[in-house]
Amino acid sequence: MPARVYLSSPHLGSEEQKFVQEAFQTNWVAPLGPNVDAFEKELAARVQMPHAAALSSGTAALHLGLLLLGVKPGDEVIVSSLTFSASANPVTYVGATPVFVDSQASTWNLDPARLEEALADVKRRGKRVGAVVSVDLYGQCADNEAIERICAAHDVPLLEDAAEALGATWKGRPAGSFGRCAAFSFNGNKIITTSGGGLLVSQDKALIERARFLSTQARDPAPHYEHSTIGFNYRLSNVLAGIGRGQLRVLDQRIAARRSHRAFYEQALGELDGIGFMPLSPHGEWNGWLTVITVDPARFGASREDIRLALEKENIESRPVWKPMHLQPVFKGCRVFGGAVAERAFELGLCLPSGSNLSEVDRDRTVSIIRALARR
Ligand SMILES: *Cc1c(COP(=O)(O)O)cnc(C)c1O
Repeated sequence: MPARVYLSSPHLGSEEQKFVQEAFQTNWVAPLGPNVDAFEKELAARVQMPHAAALSSGTAALHLGLLLLGVKPGDEVIVSSLTFSASANPVTYVGATPVFVDSQASTWNLDPARLEEALADVKRRGKRVGAVVSVDLYGQCADNEAIERICAAHDVPLLEDAAEALGATWKGRPAGSFGRCAAFSFNGNKIITTSGGGLLVSQDKALIERARFLSTQARDPAPHYEHSTIGFNYRLSNVLAGIGRGQLRVLDQRIAARRSHRAFYEQALGELDGIGFMPLSPHGEWNGWLTVITVDPARFGASREDIRLALEKENIESRPVWKPMHLQPVFKGCRVFGGAVAERAFELGLCLPSGSNLSEVDRDRTVSIIRALARR
């Protein structure tokens, strides 16, 4: 059996170890230190944001983001339904209720028209919208400009979940620059990794300072341990921030490699009847995180599950598109506006091996297995 081909595995560059070694040599082996400070500055510069807090995960960044936007128990938070559960789980950590909104067909991301419907409905029911969470799915930005405008008109803060979209842009603006604050993830499967980590960015200096305060157990200034707020242990380790600094230096190469995979898949599979690709909007620059195909079983002659199983048999990992949050047992009973676009993407969509370290041989094998399933 050939070695497993992963959907998206870590791909280290040449400088990570240098920064990690520095942390060891200077004994900064703690959730603070020079790598943490530098990683924040370097990442913030990359996404053209003035302030950033390095955290232990993207989920932690979303959790603190919601708290800092003032989301309270009893609030409702509007979240894009087609996403990973980590976009929605933090809503429940702060005692709020998620309200799910369908995607627009052109980006598979939060549909601005449906967002308007959801905002009007929450208002009609006399509830407060604590925040809107917009997700940049599979490395493509949502129509965040329109979403930002709608949020401003309703005086509701926007939190951008850019966990999958580092390096992407929308109408020339970087992912992570929309809304009051934005979250990134550096989990092992993301476009760059710290093995596990996250970041909260904002234009608002006080918000980011507060994030650092809350993420280090909310210690009031005093020689002893004094607390007037509930805190969290959410800071990124200085060792892991060193990995992130090395990774950031190869981000552009990683984006180019991943984007080239999609170009290859399009060329090799695009003309097959029943095969489509996740739509890419001309308004954005996608970071290439994952290539997603859609499979119409009637026309192609096999379903996306048939393809997944055929690849799995050859030790190649592929995955169905995220199952929409409004279909998840854990969010049963939550409101949803629309849903057909997200449901169709889940039903037909399959993520193909997309790692920046995916070899041409493995890419060729993937394509020939899929081609062999096509109706002749
Ligand atoms: C990965 C991911 C997260 C969570 O990030 P972690 O670092 O794994 O906690 C949140 N939202 C989306 C859309 C993600 O893909």
